[in-house]
Amino acid sequence: MVVRKKTKVLFWGLGLAVLTAAGAETGEVAVSLTPQRLYPGAAALVQVSGAAAGRISWEGKSFSLCSLPDGRSLGAFLPVGVDADPGRREAALVLTARGGKTFNRKVAATILPKEFPVQRLTLAESQVTLSERDLARHRREQEAVRRALADPEPGRMWTGSFRRPVPGTISTPFGFRRVLNDKPRSPHSGVDFRGAAGTPVASAGDGLVALTGDHFFAGRSVYVDHGMGIVTLYFHLAEIAVVPGEKVRVGQTLGRIGSTGRSTGPHLHWGVRLHGVNVDPLLFLALFEP
Ligand SMILES: [Zn+2]
Repeated sequence: MVVRKKTKVLFWGLGLAVLTAAGAETGEVAVSLTPQRLYPGAAALVQVSGAAAGRISWEGKSFSLCSLPDGRSLGAFLPVGVDADPGRREAALVLTARGGKTFNRKVAATILPKEFPVQRLTLAESQVTLSERDLARHRREQEAVRRALADPEPGRMWTGSFRRPVPGTISTPFGFRRVLNDKPRSPHSGVDFRGAAGTPVASAGDGLVALTGDHFFAGRSVYVDHGMGIVTLYFHLAEIAVVPGEKVRVGQTLGRIGSTGRSTGPHLHWGVRLHGVNVDPLLFLALFEP
């Protein structure tokens, strides 16, 4: 579950400051950040108890706090980009107390360094460079994805928890960097799960299908908007079982594992985006573990 006990909320950790306020005007307000240690690619959860509403600013973006499933606290998910430099960061909160008074709080976090594995490959140049036609197609598809995800649902659409979309083990982790013919590729934007072709792929959480497509790199793909800035991505499917605009529940089959698009064999590429930033899906899921 997302919601931690209050004893865990009031915590001074390594590289983390939790600020609390007690007083007649703001009542008992507690602000916490989970986990305490952040790395490039991490997902973090800010939780606020004792406030009626609020907004948070983080890394140049600002979003509303939403009520969490416990019905008592507010929360927001914060992404740490895969290329984030180590160092101290602050999230600034503007909170509204139950009595209506507005006040400010800050949560400080330290991003620690992380090395991602690198694989260097030498391939025939024709395998590395896209044709003009393929490149034009890829750009059109990127634009279609950008448009479909440009206006996500700000509120929370999920009720319980998030879960893995398939049971298989990981073949390629998040952040893995390939260097092809000395040219660095973008870091791996999700995780690859092993799985036999035809294995059902389940929605990781409740949400709304924002886009389906058959794209040059991603192959048959599904994008699910869960609200609160959370979008999950499912790539290389053999078939798609949902349509854009469809509401889905956690565990509902979105499609089946395949090898469509740029793929060398059946597997599921699963991605998690928080407020437009790719994060390690396993670190996102860890926020929901007890
Ligand atoms: Zn992948």
